[in-house]
Amino acid sequence: MTDLSHFVSGKRVAGTSGRFADVFDPATGTAEKRVPLASSAEVGAAVAAAKAAWPAWAKTPPLRRARILDRFKALLQENADKLAGLISSEHGKTHDDALGEVTRGIEVVEFALGIPHLLKGEITENVGTNVDSHSLRQPLGVVAGITPFNFPAMVPMWMFPVALACGNAFVLKPSERDPSAGLLIAELLTEAGLPDGVFNVVNGDKEAVDAILAHPDVKAVSFVGSTPIARYIYATGTAAGKRVQALGGAKNHMVILPDADLDMAVGALMGAAYGSAGERCMAISVAVPVGEATANALIEKLVPKIEALKVGPASDPASEMGPLVTAQHLAKVRGYIDEGVKEGAKLVVDGRGFHAPQGYEDGFFIGGSLFDEVTPEMSIWKNEIFGPVLSVSRAKNYAEAVDLVGRHEYGNGVAVFTRDGDAARAFAHDIEVGMVGVNVPIPVPMAFHSFGGWKASLFGDHHMHGPEGVRFYTRLKTITTRWPTGMRAEAEFVMPTMG
Ligand code: NAD
Repeated sequence: MTDLSHFVSGKRVAGTSGRFADVFDPATGTAEKRVPLASSAEVGAAVAAAKAAWPAWAKTPPLRRARILDRFKALLQENADKLAGLISSEHGKTHDDALGEVTRGIEVVEFALGIPHLLKGEITENVGTNVDSHSLRQPLGVVAGITPFNFPAMVPMWMFPVALACGNAFVLKPSERDPSAGLLIAELLTEAGLPDGVFNVVNGDKEAVDAILAHPDVKAVSFVGSTPIARYIYATGTAAGKRVQALGGAKNHMVILPDADLDMAVGALMGAAYGSAGERCMAISVAVPVGEATANALIEKLVPKIEALKVGPASDPASEMGPLVTAQHLAKVRGYIDEGVKEGAKLVVDGRGFHAPQGYEDGFFIGGSLFDEVTPEMSIWKNEIFGPVLSVSRAKNYAEAVDLVGRHEYGNGVAVFTRDGDAARAFAHDIEVGMVGVNVPIPVPMAFHSFGGWKASLFGDHHMHGPEGVRFYTRLKTITTRWPTGMRAEAEFVMPTMG
């Protein structure tokens, strides 16, 4: 059994709380590593290290900060295979999928390299006679990121490249299910020349999270995870006076209109529903074909593809879908399938009978499942299953499809497949969802746009990375300046006005 560590002030440090959690290889079901679970004192030490490092980092010119991130980017590219290997070994996703997540993370680093331009403020000459005003954006101080298991590299990289580029110091609390990616990233940042203490990793569970939320020196918290915890983080963090962005769960629909290119839609659905075993916050979990003919044709085309899915360990390059992350998560997904059957949905493909390949019998595997005739009263429609289970909810017409999407408490992502530009435009405009794809199944915005959902998928005012990320990690200051001109004014006791 290998003991993992925290990473504080430029080096790995062993946990001292005496509490650990097992880290599993989901493909074999065995735990060969333990992650230390930080006490509030250990969180305090990481925050103190960040606080000590912050003033010098904040004063470092943005261009120099960007140069360090540029070296970090090169190191990420050199180590992409190693990082992807760590991700697969603790999360279970296939190697190519893990490489894809690293690439999406690198894109945020590339965006952050433009920080000298992104931090430029505004200036107005002569807001009053001989008076000028300029505004600028300054870093907040020590900021924290609390991240989920499903993207152990990409989600932290939605946050810290922008935070660091803006001049903040960062404390990352990764998911305790797959903590190794965060530790390697910390080492690469140090190798790139980031001063010690500017980026720290504390591993842990609720105790570490609560210590971050209560710490007076943590000025802002970025969170990504499930909705109940996102709600808690937002309420607790803002009550403690912090700036908080908390991204939650999702139930993403794909509306398929009768004029859609059905083969294109089916191919897109397969990747979006079953890629990464459905453990993506932007996975499509509900297909909404419009009209009986569309629905019947869709099911007919989907079934053989789902049955032919290659489910296996990341070590097999032929695998299209890996195992779920933990035994508990596997049990939860199986439970939802049982419940869907009880509720009267039609189970067209049942992944529960899947047999893992030889040598992986104890892995957390399940095959792809497909439900038809899923209605909004059913728990499998209401809840995020976060597994390879696709529901089909049939709609009679366009209006019924739009109504179904709008009724859901989540508003993360949605897609519409059609050839009709007018319908697509109306859909994109009217739908109450934060990220919309038109013939694009997983509309994750690129790094120079911002990522975030609506409704119960995001608590807070800012989406992540892109321009919204820069706004989240900086405070606006406006400076009004007058220089002596020889003119002498008497004291003014009324509210100053310019003129
Ligand atoms: P999770 O909410 O269980 O955990 C997220 C983080 O919160 C982890 O670091 C965990 O240690 C911590 N945490 C867990 N329970 C806590 C508690 N009681 N108090 C304080 N902190 C706690 O989420 P997960 O299972 O790791 O990730 C899957 C979820 O994340 C899904 O719901 C998925 O939709 C969501 N997600 C959302 C987005 C998005 O952009 N909206 C992106 C990725 C994942």
